[in-house]
Amino acid sequence: MSDVKKTLILGSGPAGYTAAIYAARANLEPVMIAGQQPGGQLTITSEVENYPGFPKGIMGPEMMDQFREQAERFGTKVIYAVGTEVDLSKRPFTVTTDDDQVYQSQSLIISTGASALYLGLPNEKKLQGRGVSACATCDGFFFKGKVVYVVGGGDSACEEANFLTKFASKVYLVVRRDSLRASKIMQQRALDNPKIEVLWGQNVTDVFDVTQGKVTGVELTSTEGGHKKRVPADGLFLAIGHKPNTDLFRGRLTMDDKGYIVTKPGKAATNIEGVFAAGDCQDSYYRQAVTAAGSGCMAAIEVERWLEGQHAH
Ligand code: NDP
Repeated sequence: MSDVKKTLILGSGPAGYTAAIYAARANLEPVMIAGQQPGGQLTITSEVENYPGFPKGIMGPEMMDQFREQAERFGTKVIYAVGTEVDLSKRPFTVTTDDDQVYQSQSLIISTGASALYLGLPNEKKLQGRGVSACATCDGFFFKGKVVYVVGGGDSACEEANFLTKFASKVYLVVRRDSLRASKIMQQRALDNPKIEVLWGQNVTDVFDVTQGKVTGVELTSTEGGHKKRVPADGLFLAIGHKPNTDLFRGRLTMDDKGYIVTKPGKAATNIEGVFAAGDCQDSYYRQAVTAAGSGCMAAIEVERWLEGQHAH
């Protein structure tokens, strides 16, 4: 039994690392499986301006480096692998990774986050990395002097559109309704930016690659009347929300209809005793780094108390 961990953390975003910091400081010797995107979604954002304690803002990747450093300082072991299978039907729980390792743990903290959604257009996947992107921070640099379209009306879309104006000559923000969902400050920044033009009541319904397998244009369809037009474009950026990374747990844990893990009200505990969930994989509402971090802290405290309760019996 010596190789059975006390707690295993799946995912390495703000929720996972905060859980790790707390669990490590509680002597739970946490092991973290970093997952598909080490550091999580903040590693593909630009500046984080709303995380308390950083009055001048901080770059997302730098912030996640600091989270990792803090977690490792207290003894968290970070493993750069991806969970491919879980057995939650008996304890200790088992997690298998893509490098064929099998981990056993008395408790699990699931903090696998969420991933960007795509529109589902026929050419979209084919042109990914060839002009189609869901990450302006990652790919914006390649669009110097180009014309790009950003789809979405939330904070992400406004942020991406603004960021892209550092490179692109023109940014069209394609919004399906007649208003933005983004916070007022983000809206204002986008609306005040002379390089951004908002196309209200439009959907991007196709993306073209007439030459050399890269984006050359998009099709816009009006939401009222369905009028279609093709326009030249060098890039298509999607910022239409996210999907929780919970496929691994489908049928094994209680989830809502969108795949978010359901936790007990006000708690990180799931329907399986000893399994806890934190961050965007269980939160479709707040989805902020700071709320994810807060729920990671909750998960670690709950694990600590739950393990104590187990040993008391
Ligand atoms: P949101 O869910 O807030 O917004 C998604 C946007 O995409 C909406 O405008 C939605 O339109 C639109 N959309 C969804 N599906 C489609 C579709 N198929 N075609 C066209 N448009 C579509 O997601 P975000 O990623 O923007 O934000 C997620 C969370 O992260 C929010 O809580 C946000 O506040 C936060 N955030 C904060 C930032 C910051 O403060 N710096 C930066 C980025 C995100 P509709 O409005 O019509 O539903």
